Amino acid sequence: MEAGLYVVATPMGNFGDLSSRAIETLSNATLIAAEDTRHSKRLLHAFEIDTPLMAYHDHSDDRALLRIAQCIETGGAVALISDAGTPLISDPGYRLVRYVQDRGHSVRPVPGACAAIAALSVAGLPTDRFMFEGFLPARQAARRKRLEALREASLTLVIYEAPHRIQETLADLHDILGPAREALLAREMTKTFETLRRAPLAELVAFVGADAHQRKGEFVLVVEGAPPVSTEIDALTRAWLERLVREMPAKRAAAVVADVTGMRKKLLYEYLIGK
Ligand code: SAM
Repeated sequence: MEAGLYVVATPMGNFGDLSSRAIETLSNATLIAAEDTRHSKRLLHAFEIDTPLMAYHDHSDDRALLRIAQCIETGGAVALISDAGTPLISDPGYRLVRYVQDRGHSVRPVPGACAAIAALSVAGLPTDRFMFEGFLPARQAARRKRLEALREASLTLVIYEAPHRIQETLADLHDILGPAREALLAREMTKTFETLRRAPLAELVAFVGADAHQRKGEFVLVVEGAPPVSTEIDALTRAWLERLVREMPAKRAAAVVADVTGMRKKLLYEYLIGK
């Protein structure tokens, strides 16, 4: 095997998803750097791979980086794996990839499973452009603030979520993006209790709320982007704005109409003050 770092995707639940190239790379590598060696041993054992293992995390100290670089410098091939899916995608590896590249060594991908891409491929939502958000902030205030910032993004949104937060995150998505926005709930993909359900957020909130099983396991949410923002203010909206502005400040009237119509507050406010 050519010396260098090989970034190897592993299955996200179904061992059948480990590619033959990944098996070959992991079997022939000099060393495997794994996020959690105990976790990875199960996979490696199933494929009778006995390549030496070491732990690697982006917060590992420099000795881990040095050990990997030295292995490559002496002609070795190091395979990087994470617990599931593709390393570096909400997983460790970024620091290592840069470190190895900056020393002039090759870094090559051995692609395979990735939860974000798997969910997108079955979402039934536009995939020509999408935004990978990974995990939203754990604290509700920060999470809601992030979702406010994303509210008008027209791209499909991909979110990773943990079981203990799925219900809260769905509720926040519902409140901030609106009940009619469609999303795919992708739970336990490739595993026995896989759930794939595309529905408006209001329905998904009810679905997950009604069944404790649907709050267990691993989740990806693929959320429809915002509809194109209209810059045309129709006659009825203009009439409402003009009537409301007699009762309240222009800013408030614009906010109320924006809330009901989904139109941009700034556009409505500019219309009012331009009159
Ligand atoms: N590197 C991984 C990848 O390529 O997708 C992601 C690692 S991240 C630490 C783990 C998160 O990925 C989970 O919390 C969940 O959001 C998502 N995930 C991983 N496996 C999954 C599965 N089988 N079904 C649904 N989501 C999954």
